[in-house]
Amino acid sequence: MLVCDSCGTEYQTETSQQLCECGEPLRFDYMFGKVHKEKDNVWTRYSEFFPFSFKKTRSLDEGNTPLIKSSNLSEKYQIEAYLKNETVNPTWSFKDRGTHLSILRAIDLGYEKIGTVSTGNMAASVASYGKKNSLDVLVLLSSKVTDKKIDQIGIYSPKMIVLDGDYGELYYQSLSLKRDDIYFTNSNSPSRIEGYKSIAYEMIEEETPDYILIPTSSGGLFRGIAKGLIELKKVGILDEIPTLVSVQAEGCSPIKEAMETGKDEVKKWEHPKTEAKAIANPYPPGGNQVIKILNRFDGISESVSDDEIISARQELAHEGIFCQPASAVTLAGLKKLREKGIIEANSKVFMIITGSGLKSQLDNAERNKFDLKKGKGKDLESSLEEFF
Ligand SMILES: *Cc1c(COP(=O)(O)O)cnc(C)c1O
Ligand SMILES: [Zn+2]
Repeated sequence: MLVCDSCGTEYQTETSQQLCECGEPLRFDYMFGKVHKEKDNVWTRYSEFFPFSFKKTRSLDEGNTPLIKSSNLSEKYQIEAYLKNETVNPTWSFKDRGTHLSILRAIDLGYEKIGTVSTGNMAASVASYGKKNSLDVLVLLSSKVTDKKIDQIGIYSPKMIVLDGDYGELYYQSLSLKRDDIYFTNSNSPSRIEGYKSIAYEMIEEETPDYILIPTSSGGLFRGIAKGLIELKKVGILDEIPTLVSVQAEGCSPIKEAMETGKDEVKKWEHPKTEAKAIANPYPPGGNQVIKILNRFDGISESVSDDEIISARQELAHEGIFCQPASAVTLAGLKKLREKGIIEANSKVFMIITGSGLKSQLDNAERNKFDLKKGKGKDLESSLEEFF
């Protein structure tokens, strides 16, 4: 069964509808059962928690990512800091978890074509998994997309269409398309949310945090992690839902703004401006649901500036992880919430490091910080002396 958390309407599992008549994204009903502890990957351990059979698709071994304790960050911020490293997924972002299940869903519903709307990570992920599973793939791109991004998507040979309009507009256009032969998997597709909840399962197997910092754009990742935690609580594995923290970029923070002004609906952000492109959805389709979850579980919403993001990204690189600006909002948010005293000392804090830095380009300010010397002619000896 699929349900709408806003108006309570229920839909049959067989529907290909992804949005409720009221406009809000649907979700699969909570599902839980026995954990098969002896299995070696998250999908088989938690097979009873998913409304699909995994036999029909070819996986690329997504998920099962490391949760890394950072002693440097722990010491610096006087907390226990853990990084959930999603950059090691097959197409280098957590999107692969949701894509795998979206493909499964598309095949279950009898589709042979899959589509998505994305400016980057999701498009690459869907193109990769679609090809691997012999589906036709359609990617709708906004005209602002860069060549570098097109390269990362195009290599998998999907059909690509570039259109005017922002990501938010293309999303609604795709869902109202009068073609019933293409299954669109978008940021808040119910099957995608199912994929993301596996992040919660993996983390809670290892440690139970006080806080989880989640980069939030369209809201799919946040909703997925929350749903996973709720299910673990229902089955008795988790006593209490950790405090969920939604972190956005200051230049596009419609959820933070709604929370701050006590609204329960997001308002479209007029002029998004941030280097954290992967979290710059100006009109997040899952935004109202994220607000609902934040209110229900006493969550926190925060936003951080691009300068804070860039310096956090370097700090994370010093921990050995090169991530996208979008992922660095977690550490930037932690810093801010520690300074404000909202996250207390000695708390256990998880940060979701959502995607790899190789996907985005550095800007000059970041490049200028490199310890790079042009050697004096060919003289290694004297060039080295300038360093140490
Ligand atoms: C998609 C994405 C996000 C945000 O996820 P939403 O589900 O849109 O909220 C964060 N970081 C990266 C790297 C992403 O690709
Ligand atoms: Zn509804």
